[in-house]
Amino acid sequence: MATGLYLHIPFCRHRCSYCDFNTYVDQDGLREPYAEALAAEIRARAGEVRPVAHTVFFGGGTPSLMSGEQLARLVEACRSAFALPDDAEITLEANPGTVTLASLREMRALGINRLSFGAQSADPGELALLGREHGWREVGEAVATVRAAGFDNVNIDLIYGLPHQPLASWQRTVRAALALAPEHISLYALSIETGTPLHERTRRGELPLPDPDAAADMYEHAEQVLGDAGYAHYEISNWARPGRACAHNLIYWRNEPYFGLGAGAHSSSIQRRWWNARRPADYIARAAAGPEAIRAGGIELAHEDIDAATSRGETMMLGLRLLEEGITHARFEARYGAPMTTFFQAALDQAVGEGLLTVDAVGARLTERGRFLSNRVFRLLV
Ligand code: SF4
Repeated sequence: MATGLYLHIPFCRHRCSYCDFNTYVDQDGLREPYAEALAAEIRARAGEVRPVAHTVFFGGGTPSLMSGEQLARLVEACRSAFALPDDAEITLEANPGTVTLASLREMRALGINRLSFGAQSADPGELALLGREHGWREVGEAVATVRAAGFDNVNIDLIYGLPHQPLASWQRTVRAALALAPEHISLYALSIETGTPLHERTRRGELPLPDPDAAADMYEHAEQVLGDAGYAHYEISNWARPGRACAHNLIYWRNEPYFGLGAGAHSSSIQRRWWNARRPADYIARAAAGPEAIRAGGIELAHEDIDAATSRGETMMLGLRLLEEGITHARFEARYGAPMTTFFQAALDQAVGEGLLTVDAVGARLTERGRFLSNRVFRLLV
C-alpha cells in the first residue's frame, strides 16, 4: 500500500471568486513561521503510521509563493522523516505569474518533478468572472518556462460549466490547453460554494446557476477530444498521457493512507481520520508546543474513527472513480479478507441491471452510462 504526504500552503496573492479553500490573502508575514511549523509537524509525524511515503503534493493556496529556501526545508523534512524514494513523485501547485525560470530550476533541483497549473479558461471574460489574476498568455509562458527548467510532467486544471459559458468557448479552451501539450489535464465542473463572491452574485440574481445539461455537453466534448488526442481518461475528472496518471491522487482514489500536513489539512490512516487547525496563526501556535504535543494530537481540530463498513463503502466509491482500473477483486479481497460480493452483492446486481456498472473476472468498473450517473451508483453502495 502506498502512502502520500499532502502539504498545505494556505497563502494566495488574491482571492478567486469561486474559491472556498482554506487560504488567505493577507497573511504574507506568516509564511516563514508557517514553513517552520510545517517542517516541525512533518518531523514530529515521522514513523507515526507508516515509515515510508511514496508521493508528496504541495497544494494550496499557492505553494509557488513559498521561497526556494522554504520549499527546500520542507522537501528535506519529508525526505528524512518519511524515507522518500529518490524517484518519488513530488507535485507542486502553481499559479501562472508566480514562477520564474530561476524559481522553477530551484524546485527541479529539490526533486520537485511535477507542476500543476490552475489555468481554468482561455477566455478573458471567463477568467475575469472567476477572479483569476492571469491571462492565457501567462499560462503559455508558465508552461514554456517549466519546460525550459527541465520538467517533463505538467498538469493543467480547467473549469467548465460557467454561467453563460457557450460550448464554443469551452471548445476553444480545450484546444488551447491541448496546444500546450501537458502530460495531464484535470477538468472540474464549476461548483458555486456558499460564502464565495460567485455565490453572492447568483443569490442576488446577477448570474444564473450553472446549467447541468450545458456542463454535461462540455464534459462529453472534452472526453471526445482528449481521447482523440491520446489522453487516457483514467479518472472521472482526470486525463493523462500513458504513464502520467497522478500517483499522489491515485492514493486517495485507492483509499490508501495519506498524511495531510499543515493548516486545515486532512489525514487518513485507514482506521482513523483527522484534520488540523485551520487558521495559519492557530496552527503555528499549536506546532510551537513541540513534537510530543503534536504527536498527542495538539495540532488537530478533530478526528473520527473509520469502522470497517465505512472503509469498504469508501473504497468502492473512490475506486469506481478510476474508470480503467475500477475496483479489482484481488485488491478488495486482499484488503478486507472477503470478496466484494460478500458485502455489496445486491448493490452490484442493481447497478449492473441498470447498465451503470460492469463486473467481470478482474473487478468492477463504471460503464459509459455509469460515468454520467456515478452518483446513483455511489448511493447504491453506501
Ligand atoms: S489561487 Fe487557488 S487557492 Fe488561491 S484563491 Fe484562487 S482558487 Fe483559491
